[in-house]
Amino acid sequence: KRKVAMAMVAAMAVSSFTVPVFAEDAAAEGGKIGISMPTQSLERWNRDGSYLQKQFEDAGYEVELTYSDNETDRQVNDIQNLISDGVNLLVVAAIDGEALNTVMDEAAEAGIPVISYDRLIKSDAVSYYVSFDNYTVGTLQGQYVVDTLDLENAGDKTYNIEFTAGDPADNNAGYFFNGAFDVLKPYIDAGTLNVVSGQTDFDSVATPAWDTQTALERMQNILASYYADGTQLDVALCSNDSTALGVTQAIESDYAGSNTVLITGQDGDEANLANIVDGKQSMTVYKAVANEAVVTLDLAKAMLAGDTVDESLIEASGWDFDCTYDTESYETSEGNKCPSFLLVPTVVTKDNLQEALVDPGYYTMDDDGYLH
Ligand code: BGC
Repeated sequence: KRKVAMAMVAAMAVSSFTVPVFAEDAAAEGGKIGISMPTQSLERWNRDGSYLQKQFEDAGYEVELTYSDNETDRQVNDIQNLISDGVNLLVVAAIDGEALNTVMDEAAEAGIPVISYDRLIKSDAVSYYVSFDNYTVGTLQGQYVVDTLDLENAGDKTYNIEFTAGDPADNNAGYFFNGAFDVLKPYIDAGTLNVVSGQTDFDSVATPAWDTQTALERMQNILASYYADGTQLDVALCSNDSTALGVTQAIESDYAGSNTVLITGQDGDEANLANIVDGKQSMTVYKAVANEAVVTLDLAKAMLAGDTVDESLIEASGWDFDCTYDTESYETSEGNKCPSFLLVPTVVTKDNLQEALVDPGYYTMDDDGYLH
Protein backbone atom coordinates (compact mmCIF):
# COMPACT_ATOMS: atom_id res chain seq x y z
CA LYS A 1 0.00 0.00 0.00
CA ARG A 2 2.76 2.39 0.90
CA LYS A 3 4.34 1.78 -2.50
CA VAL A 4 1.16 2.85 -4.28
CA ALA A 5 0.81 5.95 -2.13
CA MET A 6 4.43 6.93 -2.80
CA ALA A 7 3.97 6.39 -6.53
CA MET A 8 0.89 8.59 -6.46
CA VAL A 9 2.68 11.36 -4.61
CA ALA A 10 5.52 11.13 -7.12
CA ALA A 11 3.11 11.26 -10.06
CA MET A 12 1.30 14.25 -8.59
CA ALA A 13 4.56 16.06 -7.97
CA VAL A 14 5.72 15.40 -11.52
CA SER A 15 2.49 16.51 -13.12
CA SER A 16 2.27 19.74 -11.13
CA PHE A 17 5.79 20.65 -12.27
CA THR A 18 5.72 19.49 -15.85
CA VAL A 19 2.22 20.28 -17.07
CA PRO A 20 1.12 23.56 -15.51
CA VAL A 21 -0.44 24.50 -18.86
CA PHE A 22 -2.87 21.64 -18.60
CA ALA A 23 -3.96 22.81 -15.21
CA GLU A 24 -4.81 26.21 -16.67
CA ASP A 25 -6.70 24.59 -19.55
CA ALA A 26 -8.62 22.51 -17.07
CA ALA A 27 -9.56 25.59 -15.12
CA ALA A 28 -10.62 27.33 -18.32
CA GLU A 29 -12.86 24.40 -19.20
CA GLY A 30 -14.10 24.26 -15.62
CA GLY A 31 -12.88 20.73 -15.57
CA LYS A 32 -12.53 18.76 -12.40
CA ILE A 33 -13.89 15.23 -12.73
CA GLY A 34 -14.85 13.02 -9.80
CA ILE A 35 -14.57 9.32 -10.59
CA SER A 36 -16.06 6.82 -8.15
CA MET A 37 -15.22 3.17 -8.80
CA PRO A 38 -16.57 0.24 -6.76
CA THR A 39 -13.49 -1.70 -5.68
CA GLN A 40 -9.94 -2.64 -6.53
CA SER A 41 -10.58 -6.25 -5.55
CA LEU A 42 -12.23 -7.05 -8.90
CA GLU A 43 -9.66 -6.72 -11.65
CA ARG A 44 -11.53 -4.77 -14.26
CA TRP A 45 -12.24 -1.71 -12.08
CA ASN A 46 -8.51 -1.07 -11.76
CA ARG A 47 -8.35 -0.92 -15.54
CA ASP A 48 -11.42 1.34 -15.73
CA GLY A 49 -10.07 3.67 -13.07
CA SER A 50 -6.72 4.11 -14.73
CA TYR A 51 -8.08 4.40 -18.28
CA LEU A 52 -10.61 7.01 -17.17
CA GLN A 53 -8.04 8.95 -15.21
CA LYS A 54 -5.62 8.94 -18.14
CA GLN A 55 -8.26 9.93 -20.70
CA PHE A 56 -9.45 12.88 -18.65
CA GLU A 57 -5.98 14.03 -17.59
CA ASP A 58 -4.65 13.83 -21.15
CA ALA A 59 -7.57 16.00 -22.21
CA GLY A 60 -6.55 18.58 -19.61
CA TYR A 61 -8.99 17.84 -16.81
CA GLU A 62 -8.15 17.44 -13.18
CA VAL A 63 -9.23 14.07 -11.78
CA GLU A 64 -10.15 12.76 -8.35
CA LEU A 65 -10.44 8.98 -8.37
CA THR A 66 -11.88 6.95 -5.49
CA TYR A 67 -12.38 3.24 -4.83
CA SER A 68 -14.86 2.24 -2.16
CA ASP A 69 -13.87 -1.33 -1.26
CA ASN A 70 -17.26 -2.71 -2.35
CA GLU A 71 -18.92 -0.97 0.61
CA THR A 72 -21.95 1.09 -0.26
CA ASP A 73 -21.70 3.42 2.74
CA ARG A 74 -18.13 4.15 1.84
CA GLN A 75 -19.11 4.92 -1.77
CA VAL A 76 -21.77 7.35 -0.56
CA ASN A 77 -19.14 8.99 1.59
CA ASP A 78 -16.58 9.08 -1.23
CA ILE A 79 -19.09 10.72 -3.57
CA GLN A 80 -20.04 13.25 -0.89
CA ASN A 81 -16.37 14.18 -0.59
CA LEU A 82 -16.08 14.57 -4.37
CA ILE A 83 -19.10 16.87 -4.28
CA SER A 84 -17.64 19.01 -1.51
CA ASP A 85 -14.30 19.11 -3.33
CA GLY A 86 -16.16 20.95 -6.07
CA VAL A 87 -15.99 18.49 -8.98
CA ASN A 88 -17.78 19.64 -12.13
CA LEU A 89 -18.98 16.23 -13.19
CA LEU A 90 -19.25 12.79 -11.62
CA VAL A 91 -18.53 9.43 -13.25
CA VAL A 92 -19.89 6.68 -11.00
CA ALA A 93 -19.80 2.88 -11.24
CA ALA A 94 -22.19 1.91 -8.46
CA ILE A 95 -21.65 -0.88 -5.98
CA ASP A 96 -25.39 -0.98 -5.38
CA GLY A 97 -27.51 0.60 -8.11
CA GLU A 98 -30.33 1.35 -5.70
CA ALA A 99 -28.40 2.74 -2.75
CA LEU A 100 -27.10 6.01 -4.14
CA ASN A 101 -30.33 7.99 -4.48
CA THR A 102 -29.72 10.41 -1.65
CA VAL A 103 -26.18 11.24 -2.68
CA MET A 104 -27.28 11.53 -6.31
CA ASP A 105 -29.85 14.09 -5.17
CA GLU A 106 -27.07 15.93 -3.37
CA ALA A 107 -25.09 16.03 -6.62
CA ALA A 108 -28.13 17.36 -8.47
CA GLU A 109 -28.65 20.07 -5.84
CA ALA A 110 -25.02 21.11 -6.24
CA GLY A 111 -25.58 21.28 -10.02
CA ILE A 112 -23.17 18.42 -10.74
CA PRO A 113 -24.16 16.20 -13.67
CA VAL A 114 -23.67 12.45 -13.32
CA ILE A 115 -22.65 9.82 -15.85
CA SER A 116 -23.61 6.36 -14.67
CA TYR A 117 -20.63 4.26 -15.67
CA ASP A 118 -21.02 0.61 -16.70
CA ARG A 119 -23.68 -0.12 -14.04
CA LEU A 120 -26.92 1.84 -14.06
CA ILE A 121 -27.75 3.88 -10.96
CA LYS A 122 -31.49 3.94 -10.35
CA SER A 123 -31.73 7.69 -9.82
CA ASP A 124 -33.24 10.34 -12.07
CA ALA A 125 -30.31 12.58 -11.16
CA VAL A 126 -28.29 10.49 -13.61
CA SER A 127 -27.98 12.25 -16.98
CA TYR A 128 -26.49 9.49 -19.14
CA TYR A 129 -25.45 5.89 -18.97
CA VAL A 130 -22.28 4.56 -20.62
CA SER A 131 -21.88 0.80 -20.74
CA PHE A 132 -21.68 -2.25 -22.92
CA ASP A 133 -24.77 -3.94 -24.22
CA ASN A 134 -25.24 -6.01 -21.09
CA TYR A 135 -27.96 -8.32 -22.37
CA THR A 136 -25.79 -9.16 -25.38
CA VAL A 137 -22.94 -10.16 -23.05
CA GLY A 138 -25.27 -12.89 -21.77
CA THR A 139 -26.54 -13.93 -25.20
CA LEU A 140 -22.94 -14.32 -26.42
CA GLN A 141 -22.24 -16.69 -23.53
CA GLY A 142 -25.41 -18.67 -24.20
CA GLN A 143 -24.81 -18.79 -27.94
CA TYR A 144 -21.26 -19.98 -27.36
CA VAL A 145 -22.67 -22.99 -25.47
CA VAL A 146 -25.23 -23.65 -28.22
CA ASP A 147 -22.59 -23.50 -30.96
CA THR A 148 -19.84 -25.39 -29.16
CA LEU A 149 -22.08 -28.30 -28.21
CA ASP A 150 -23.97 -28.01 -31.51
CA LEU A 151 -27.22 -28.15 -29.55
CA GLU A 152 -29.33 -27.59 -32.61
CA ASN A 153 -28.26 -30.97 -33.93
CA ALA A 154 -28.01 -32.73 -30.58
CA GLY A 155 -30.74 -35.26 -31.38
CA ASP A 156 -31.18 -37.46 -28.32
CA LYS A 157 -27.94 -36.38 -26.75
CA THR A 158 -28.32 -34.44 -23.49
CA TYR A 159 -25.96 -32.26 -21.49
CA ASN A 160 -25.83 -31.14 -17.87
CA ILE A 161 -25.41 -27.47 -17.03
CA GLU A 162 -25.17 -25.27 -13.92
CA PHE A 163 -25.53 -21.48 -13.75
CA THR A 164 -23.58 -18.93 -11.70
CA ALA A 165 -24.73 -15.32 -11.93
CA GLY A 166 -23.55 -12.01 -10.46
CA ASP A 167 -24.31 -9.60 -7.65
CA PRO A 168 -28.04 -8.88 -7.18
CA ALA A 169 -27.15 -5.28 -6.17
CA ASP A 170 -25.51 -4.73 -9.58
CA ASN A 171 -28.11 -3.71 -12.15
CA ASN A 172 -26.08 -5.48 -14.86
CA ALA A 173 -26.20 -8.90 -13.28
CA GLY A 174 -29.81 -9.64 -14.25
CA TYR A 175 -29.17 -8.59 -17.85
CA PHE A 176 -26.20 -10.93 -18.17
CA PHE A 177 -28.12 -13.83 -16.68
CA ASN A 178 -31.29 -13.24 -18.67
CA GLY A 179 -29.36 -12.89 -21.92
CA ALA A 180 -27.69 -16.26 -21.41
CA PHE A 181 -30.80 -17.94 -20.06
CA ASP A 182 -33.04 -16.74 -22.89
CA VAL A 183 -30.72 -18.32 -25.46
CA LEU A 184 -30.50 -21.61 -23.52
CA LYS A 185 -34.10 -21.90 -22.35
CA PRO A 186 -35.45 -23.61 -25.49
CA TYR A 187 -32.85 -26.36 -25.01
CA ILE A 188 -33.67 -26.65 -21.31
CA ASP A 189 -37.38 -26.89 -22.15
CA ALA A 190 -36.65 -29.53 -24.78
CA GLY A 191 -34.60 -31.57 -22.29
CA THR A 192 -31.38 -31.24 -24.30
CA LEU A 193 -29.89 -29.23 -21.45
CA ASN A 194 -30.49 -30.45 -17.95
CA VAL A 195 -29.91 -28.27 -14.87
CA VAL A 196 -29.24 -31.09 -12.42
CA SER A 197 -29.40 -28.90 -9.30
CA GLY A 198 -32.70 -27.44 -10.50
CA GLN A 199 -31.33 -23.95 -9.74
CA THR A 200 -32.47 -21.79 -12.62
CA ASP A 201 -33.83 -18.61 -11.09
CA PHE A 202 -31.55 -15.60 -10.71
CA ASP A 203 -31.81 -15.40 -6.93
CA SER A 204 -30.62 -18.95 -6.38
CA VAL A 205 -27.68 -18.67 -8.76
CA ALA A 206 -26.60 -15.10 -7.83
CA THR A 207 -23.19 -14.33 -6.26
CA PRO A 208 -23.17 -11.38 -3.82
CA ALA A 209 -20.31 -8.95 -4.56
CA TRP A 210 -19.29 -11.14 -7.54
CA ASP A 211 -17.06 -12.84 -5.01
CA THR A 212 -14.77 -15.64 -6.24
CA GLN A 213 -14.78 -17.53 -2.95
CA THR A 214 -18.59 -17.42 -2.73
CA ALA A 215 -18.88 -18.81 -6.26
CA LEU A 216 -16.32 -21.48 -5.42
CA GLU A 217 -18.18 -22.63 -2.31
CA ARG A 218 -21.56 -22.71 -4.02
CA MET A 219 -20.14 -24.86 -6.83
CA GLN A 220 -18.49 -27.18 -4.30
CA ASN A 221 -21.90 -27.67 -2.68
CA ILE A 222 -23.55 -28.36 -6.01
CA LEU A 223 -20.85 -30.86 -6.96
CA ALA A 224 -21.17 -32.63 -3.60
CA SER A 225 -24.97 -32.74 -3.74
CA TYR A 226 -25.64 -33.56 -7.38
CA TYR A 227 -22.48 -34.80 -9.10
CA ALA A 228 -20.69 -36.95 -6.49
CA ASP A 229 -22.42 -40.05 -7.88
CA GLY A 230 -20.56 -39.74 -11.18
CA THR A 231 -23.10 -37.56 -12.96
CA GLN A 232 -21.27 -35.65 -15.68
CA LEU A 233 -21.19 -31.85 -15.63
CA ASP A 234 -20.84 -30.47 -19.16
CA VAL A 235 -21.31 -26.73 -18.78
CA ALA A 236 -20.77 -24.13 -16.05
CA LEU A 237 -22.36 -20.95 -17.36
CA CYS A 238 -20.72 -18.18 -15.35
CA SER A 239 -21.67 -14.53 -15.83
CA ASN A 240 -18.15 -13.16 -15.40
CA ASP A 241 -14.52 -14.00 -14.78
CA SER A 242 -14.39 -13.48 -11.02
CA THR A 243 -17.16 -16.06 -10.56
CA ALA A 244 -15.73 -18.33 -13.29
CA LEU A 245 -12.44 -18.36 -11.39
CA GLY A 246 -14.10 -19.76 -8.28
CA VAL A 247 -16.17 -22.25 -10.25
CA THR A 248 -13.08 -23.46 -12.12
CA GLN A 249 -11.23 -23.97 -8.83
CA ALA A 250 -14.17 -25.92 -7.40
CA ILE A 251 -14.27 -28.15 -10.48
CA GLU A 252 -10.52 -28.71 -10.35
CA SER A 253 -10.59 -29.74 -6.71
CA ASP A 254 -14.01 -31.34 -6.23
CA TYR A 255 -15.31 -32.70 -9.53
CA ALA A 256 -14.90 -36.42 -9.99
CA GLY A 257 -15.49 -36.54 -13.75
CA SER A 258 -12.69 -36.56 -16.31
CA ASN A 259 -14.34 -34.49 -19.06
CA THR A 260 -13.45 -30.87 -19.70
CA VAL A 261 -16.29 -28.69 -18.42
CA LEU A 262 -17.24 -25.84 -20.73
CA ILE A 263 -16.90 -22.68 -18.60
CA THR A 264 -17.92 -19.18 -19.71
CA GLY A 265 -16.80 -15.83 -18.35
CA GLN A 266 -16.63 -12.11 -18.97
CA ASP A 267 -13.95 -9.37 -18.72
CA GLY A 268 -10.67 -10.95 -19.76
CA ASP A 269 -9.16 -10.91 -16.26
CA GLU A 270 -5.55 -12.06 -16.39
CA ALA A 271 -6.06 -15.20 -14.29
CA ASN A 272 -8.95 -16.22 -16.53
CA LEU A 273 -6.98 -15.56 -19.71
CA ALA A 274 -4.31 -17.85 -18.28
CA ASN A 275 -7.02 -20.47 -17.68
CA ILE A 276 -8.16 -20.05 -21.28
CA VAL A 277 -4.59 -20.62 -22.50
CA ASP A 278 -4.42 -23.71 -20.24
CA GLY A 279 -7.78 -25.02 -21.49
CA LYS A 280 -9.50 -24.69 -18.09
CA GLN A 281 -11.93 -21.92 -19.13
CA SER A 282 -13.50 -21.97 -22.58
CA MET A 283 -14.28 -18.34 -23.31
CA THR A 284 -14.63 -14.87 -21.93
CA VAL A 285 -16.73 -12.00 -23.19
CA TYR A 286 -14.29 -9.16 -23.57
CA LYS A 287 -15.35 -5.57 -23.09
CA ALA A 288 -12.77 -3.01 -24.17
CA VAL A 289 -13.02 -0.74 -21.16
CA ALA A 290 -10.43 1.55 -22.73
CA ASN A 291 -13.12 2.45 -25.28
CA GLU A 292 -15.72 2.83 -22.53
CA ALA A 293 -13.41 5.48 -21.07
CA VAL A 294 -13.14 7.24 -24.44
CA VAL A 295 -16.93 7.41 -24.76
CA THR A 296 -17.18 8.72 -21.21
CA LEU A 297 -14.63 11.46 -21.89
CA ASP A 298 -16.30 12.63 -25.10
CA LEU A 299 -19.72 12.57 -23.47
CA ALA A 300 -18.43 14.50 -20.45
CA LYS A 301 -16.81 17.10 -22.69
CA ALA A 302 -20.06 17.62 -24.58
CA MET A 303 -22.05 17.86 -21.36
CA LEU A 304 -19.68 20.37 -19.78
CA ALA A 305 -19.65 22.44 -22.97
CA GLY A 306 -23.45 22.44 -23.01
CA ASP A 307 -23.52 20.74 -26.44
CA THR A 308 -26.48 18.68 -27.55
CA VAL A 309 -25.98 15.06 -26.70
CA ASP A 310 -27.61 12.50 -28.95
CA GLU A 311 -26.47 9.94 -31.52
CA SER A 312 -24.62 12.69 -33.36
CA LEU A 313 -21.95 12.42 -30.67
CA ILE A 314 -20.98 9.06 -32.16
CA GLU A 315 -20.42 10.64 -35.56
CA ALA A 316 -18.75 13.76 -34.19
CA SER A 317 -16.29 11.85 -32.04
CA GLY A 318 -15.20 9.55 -34.86
CA TRP A 319 -14.80 6.52 -32.61
CA ASP A 320 -13.30 3.58 -34.46
CA PHE A 321 -15.34 1.09 -32.45
CA ASP A 322 -19.03 0.20 -32.45
CA CYS A 323 -21.23 2.11 -30.08
CA THR A 324 -24.97 2.64 -30.20
CA TYR A 325 -27.11 5.39 -28.76
CA ASP A 326 -30.04 3.77 -27.01
CA THR A 327 -32.93 5.68 -25.46
CA GLU A 328 -35.17 2.71 -24.67
CA SER A 329 -33.39 -0.04 -22.77
CA TYR A 330 -32.56 1.45 -19.39
CA GLU A 331 -34.80 3.21 -16.86
CA THR A 332 -33.64 5.12 -13.81
CA SER A 333 -37.17 5.00 -12.41
CA GLU A 334 -40.51 3.68 -13.61
CA GLY A 335 -41.02 5.08 -17.10
CA ASN A 336 -38.00 7.37 -16.92
CA LYS A 337 -35.61 6.25 -19.63
CA CYS A 338 -31.91 7.00 -19.40
CA PRO A 339 -30.19 7.87 -22.68
CA SER A 340 -27.37 5.39 -23.04
CA PHE A 341 -24.22 4.85 -25.05
CA LEU A 342 -23.67 1.12 -25.38
CA LEU A 343 -20.55 -0.55 -26.72
CA VAL A 344 -20.37 -3.94 -28.35
CA PRO A 345 -18.71 -6.86 -26.50
CA THR A 346 -16.72 -9.63 -28.23
CA VAL A 347 -16.19 -13.33 -27.62
CA VAL A 348 -12.62 -14.32 -26.82
CA THR A 349 -11.39 -17.92 -26.91
CA LYS A 350 -7.99 -19.58 -27.13
CA ASP A 351 -8.25 -19.25 -30.91
CA ASN A 352 -8.52 -15.47 -31.16
CA LEU A 353 -6.55 -14.21 -28.13
CA GLN A 354 -3.94 -12.73 -30.42
CA GLU A 355 -6.27 -10.85 -32.83
CA ALA A 356 -8.82 -9.82 -30.21
CA LEU A 357 -6.59 -8.81 -27.33
CA VAL A 358 -2.93 -8.57 -28.29
CA ASP A 359 -3.04 -7.00 -31.76
CA PRO A 360 -5.23 -4.05 -30.63
CA GLY A 361 -2.77 -3.45 -27.77
CA TYR A 362 -5.02 -4.32 -24.83
CA TYR A 363 -2.61 -6.97 -23.54
CA THR A 364 0.87 -8.21 -24.28
CA MET A 365 1.70 -11.89 -24.63
CA ASP A 366 4.74 -13.33 -22.89
CA ASP A 367 6.90 -16.14 -24.27
CA ASP A 368 4.73 -18.76 -22.55
CA GLY A 369 1.61 -17.45 -24.28
CA TYR A 370 0.10 -15.82 -21.17
CA LEU A 371 -1.41 -12.34 -21.39
CA HIS A 372 -0.64 -9.37 -19.17
C1 BGC B 1 -19.40 -5.48 -14.93
C2 BGC B 1 -18.65 -6.72 -15.28
C3 BGC B 1 -17.90 -7.24 -14.08
C4 BGC B 1 -18.75 -7.26 -12.83
C5 BGC B 1 -17.93 -7.54 -11.61
C6 BGC B 1 -20.25 -5.75 -13.74
O1 BGC B 1 -21.03 -4.65 -13.42
O2 BGC B 1 -20.17 -5.06 -16.04
O3 BGC B 1 -17.76 -6.43 -16.34
O4 BGC B 1 -17.49 -8.55 -14.33
O5 BGC B 1 -19.41 -6.04 -12.66
O6 BGC B 1 -16.90 -6.63 -11.44
